[in-house]
Amino acid sequence: MEKKYLFSPGPTPIPSEVLLAMARPIIHHRDPAYEELFAQVREDLKWLFQTKNDVLLFASSGTGPMDGAVSNLLSKGDKVLVISGGKFGERWAEICEAYSVKVKNIEVTWGKAVDPNVIANELEKDPSFKAVFVQASETSTGVAHPIKELCDIVKRYDNTIIVVDAISALGVMDLPMDKWGIDVMVSGSQKAFMLPPGLAMIGLSDKAWKFVEKSDLPKYYFDFKKELNNEKKNQNAFTPAISLVVGLKESLSMMKKEGLENLFARHAKLAKATREAAKALGLELLAPDSPSNALTAIKAPDGIDGAKLKKNLEAHYGIIAAGGQAHLKGKIIRIAHIGYFGPLDIIMAISALEMELKRMGYPVELGKGVKIAEEILLEGE
Ligand SMILES: *Cc1c(COP(=O)(O)O)cnc(C)c1O
Repeated sequence: MEKKYLFSPGPTPIPSEVLLAMARPIIHHRDPAYEELFAQVREDLKWLFQTKNDVLLFASSGTGPMDGAVSNLLSKGDKVLVISGGKFGERWAEICEAYSVKVKNIEVTWGKAVDPNVIANELEKDPSFKAVFVQASETSTGVAHPIKELCDIVKRYDNTIIVVDAISALGVMDLPMDKWGIDVMVSGSQKAFMLPPGLAMIGLSDKAWKFVEKSDLPKYYFDFKKELNNEKKNQNAFTPAISLVVGLKESLSMMKKEGLENLFARHAKLAKATREAAKALGLELLAPDSPSNALTAIKAPDGIDGAKLKKNLEAHYGIIAAGGQAHLKGKIIRIAHIGYFGPLDIIMAISALEMELKRMGYPVELGKGVKIAEEILLEGE
C-alpha cells in the first residue's frame, strides 16, 4: 500500500465534505437551483475578498483571469510596471507582452520581497504607468510582497491601478480588498479554496471597472463586462464548472465557519512552525525576511540534491512536496501549508524531512525540528 500526502502549493488536499458535495448528481446551470447556489457563492466570495463589488468566476485555471486582467484593463500602447521576482511575476510580464503592452520589469532577487520605495520612485518619475502587477504570495519562491504598502503608493495616482495575483494568498493572509485599495485581485480554486483545479476568481474595484470601460485590447472568453452582466442575474456567460461551483459553496461555508481571523491565524501558525523547524535542523530558508504563509521554501543543504530529496520524500514517506523552478531547480524544496492543513500535517512533513535527510547522509538530530514545531503549535493553546 502507498499512502500519499499532498504538500504541494496547488493542487492542495480536499476535505471529504467538499469531495462528497461534488459527487452529487449534476444540476443544470440555467435552472433556478443553480441560480440559488450561485447567489450564495457570490455573496461568500465577496466576504472572502473583503469587497462590496462582484467577484467574477470563470471555468479556468488561475492564469485565465490573469490573462483577462491584462486584456480587460489595458489598451494598446499602455506601459506597466511588473514586479518580477519569481516564476509568477514573470507570467504577468509574459501576458502583457502577448498583448503588446509595454512592460518595465522591476527585477527582484528570487527569495526577496520588492522594496515599495522602488515602485514609489518609478511612479514619481513617470506617472503614466497604467498598472503595477504583483504577486501577494510568489509561490515559486515562498515570498510575500508588501501589498498594503504598494496599495498606499498606487492610490495616489488616479490613472494607475494595482493588480494583485493572490492565487496562493487569498484565504491565507489578510488582503482586505476595499480597505487597502487593491484594484484587482485574482485567485484560483486549487489553493486555499481546498478544491480541485478548474475555477478562477477575480475581483475589481470601482477604479478598475473604469479602466475596463476604456480598454481596447481584444477579448472574448474573459470578457469581464459580459460576465458581470450575467452574474448580476446569478448566471454565467458560458457553461460554468457546475460541480466545482457546488464544491466551492461547501468550501466557502467551511471557511466562513472558521472565520477570517482564525483562517489567517491558523496559516500563520502552521507557517511559523514549518519555518522554525527547518531552521532548527540547520536548514536555510529561501525567503527568511518576507515569507509567505502559504508555503515554505527551504534551501537544500550543501551536498544534498533538492530534486532527489523531493523524490525520496515521496518514494519513502509518500510526502509530495514541490521542488524548485527555473534556476532554483534542485536547489530548494517547497512545503505547502495552504488550505486544508492542520498541526499534525506539519509534524508529519517535518518528521519525514528529518528522516529523509538523515537517510541521505545529512547530519540531523532526529526529533529536533519536530520538537520546535510542536512547541510553536502549542503556543496560545
Ligand atoms: C498557482 C498559481 C498561479 C496559477 O496557476 P494556474 O496553473 O494557472 O492555476 C498563478 N500565480 C500564483 C502565485 C500561483 O500560486
